[in-house]
Amino acid sequence: QLSLREQLYEVLASTAQFYQHALRQSLGQTAMLYLKEHRQLNTETIQQFGLGYAPAGWETLYRYLVEDKHYPVQLVEKAGLIKPRKEGGGYYDVFRDRLMIPIRDIQGRVIAFGGRTLTEEQPKYLNSPETELFSKGKTLFALDHAKDGISKQDQAVVVEGYFDAIALHAAGINNAVASLGTALSIEQVRLLLRYTDSKQLVLNFDADKAGTIAAERAIGEIATLAYKGEVQLKILNIPDGKDADEYLHSHTAEEYQQLLANAPLWLNWQITEIVKDRDLRQATDFQKVTKQIVKLLQNIVNSDTLNYYISYCAEILSLGDARLIPLRVENLLTQI
Ligand code: ATP
Ligand code: MN
Ligand code: MN
Ligand code: MN
Repeated sequence: QLSLREQLYEVLASTAQFYQHALRQSLGQTAMLYLKEHRQLNTETIQQFGLGYAPAGWETLYRYLVEDKHYPVQLVEKAGLIKPRKEGGGYYDVFRDRLMIPIRDIQGRVIAFGGRTLTEEQPKYLNSPETELFSKGKTLFALDHAKDGISKQDQAVVVEGYFDAIALHAAGINNAVASLGTALSIEQVRLLLRYTDSKQLVLNFDADKAGTIAAERAIGEIATLAYKGEVQLKILNIPDGKDADEYLHSHTAEEYQQLLANAPLWLNWQITEIVKDRDLRQATDFQKVTKQIVKLLQNIVNSDTLNYYISYCAEILSLGDARLIPLRVENLLTQI
């Protein structure tokens, strides 16, 4: 007798196969074309990530799992794959007419799905609900594929989207995981840090508004670790607001590696963000900026690091001949 968890793994594995099979049928043609043409993915990558297609009907998966394979309906519901209809009884498939991306645990077992629409339908991405096996804040997409790469390169790259992670792996950058669109949690970070000795983490979130907010939030989560030096956190924003997937459509893996190598440390990134769109010649802006910077620097424990950031900020805040300004900042900073 299998435990509930074991039964869930089984029904999810079976579902992944069903989706993979559908992608290769004529009903999956549009989805396959989308992957090959639009996403520029080859058969090998499609296979490696077990990508699939959820057919358009309301109960195709339901029929397959419950009627053909005789999985108990409650089990399929607990797996997050079907929902009871509001009226008239019966169940309907959660994922319909979507490109299906299996989300796996570290051992590579399917625990959930992400589904991308192929039309203009909202939401663009639909994820499995939280289940016995799947907890969003504890999972990182592609970690099963990335864990060896993270160990070898002694660095982990975190991107926002499924396709960012997939594109990076396809380009041979195999230390990338995706955070499933949520702000990175401390648990996810600790999970990643298990695989690196020097605790190097690069956040490569989208440079759009949502991505910047997610990066700020992630930094907020990780800051305590970062101040203590328990993680070497860097932030990469790709030029022109592209995400990793888009970038790799017109750039090489080497160019991406170069961006990674040049990514600023999180404090430098934060300082740039604070100064951005401010006019330091205006007293109000200048005061706001200084206040935020002091707040940022006051938690630095290492005195060498602190000294470095004090001179870095003094330089950034100085304006032409206004030599008094850096002095004022130094004053402020040494009051900490
Ligand atoms: P595209 O497939 O168009 O390249 P993307 O992956 O770049 O999309 P973004 O809009 O940049 O998508 O969002 C990043 C990630 O956030 C997505 O990959 C997905 O994991 C998650 N996400 C985006 N929109 C939603 C949504 N409506 N619901 C849940 N998760 C979402
Ligand atoms: Mn985005
Ligand atoms: Mn994106
Ligand atoms: Mn994208």
